[in-house]
Amino acid sequence: MSKLKIAVQKSGRLSEKSLQLFEECGIKTSNGTRKLKAEASNFPVEFLFLRDDDIPQYVEQGVADIGIIGENEIWEQNKNIRIIQKLGFAGCKMSLAIPKDENYTGINFFKNKRIATSYPNILTHFFSEKNIAVSIEKLSGSVEIATGIGLADGIFDIVSTGSTLLMNGLKEVEVITKSEAVLISTPSLPPDRKEILERILFRINAVKQGSSNKYILLNAPNESLDAISGLLPGMKSPTILPLAEPGWSSLHSVVQEEQFWDIIDQLKKLGAQGILVLPIEKMVI
Ligand code: ATP
Ligand code: MG
Repeated sequence: MSKLKIAVQKSGRLSEKSLQLFEECGIKTSNGTRKLKAEASNFPVEFLFLRDDDIPQYVEQGVADIGIIGENEIWEQNKNIRIIQKLGFAGCKMSLAIPKDENYTGINFFKNKRIATSYPNILTHFFSEKNIAVSIEKLSGSVEIATGIGLADGIFDIVSTGSTLLMNGLKEVEVITKSEAVLISTPSLPPDRKEILERILFRINAVKQGSSNKYILLNAPNESLDAISGLLPGMKSPTILPLAEPGWSSLHSVVQEEQFWDIIDQLKKLGAQGILVLPIEKMVI
């Protein structure tokens, strides 16, 4: 049977989380990322460990069937690939920064200035839409030192905490866009591999659902059970079990993490006590 080939970053900010995602889906590789390739022991997939910049190209050509990559690389490279879904990790901003002592007056500050970046296409597109002429210096790394050595007046780069900027005497002045890790696929997958991908997507969804929902248990007086069930409908309906103390029950349900704080006051008003909220590892609806 054919295997689905998955490209993940060999070593860098995407590597660990990418493999962790597959592991949470029950797909394990024993070898880590030391080799170029590794097969999963319990699922028809093969992992290819690559430089992240090369992943869109390999996926476009079908050398890998799917891959995990930052959106920033996709925008920069503009390859013929399909974005399947956002993955919610490796979040970062793509920002313009200038030396911290410069007086920033707005985007026109950059008019006729030199900007160093590893993302010339994204930057060119941004300034041409604004009709501002700039000169772009393409660097493949260490962009943050470009102003200090007199190569550029500003930089355009990935920023997460801003500590790298700070260390290099820079300040962030514009956030151009935000990026996160996404799952991509080659434009046309043969049916047998598509089926494997569907199985993986089903599992990824179960993991994502699990992490955005919580298991909730509480004790409540019997007369409030209907009202509380209305607030916590759960997957089908809540489980209600009588407590040893007459007139009281224990109610178990599932709640979306973001809704929890909205309904907690109402639960307390309805007499709920001993509220426990527990993580869910996986959830299949
Ligand atoms: P490679 O050796 O594979 O080419 P790299 O040095 O180009 O690695 P990393 O620094 O590991 O790449 O970053 C990979 C991706 O992680 C980035 O393209 C971006 O999508 C995301 N990312 C998240 N936060 C950051 C950050 N603070 N700095 C750089 N990248 C980040
Ligand atoms: Mg890279």
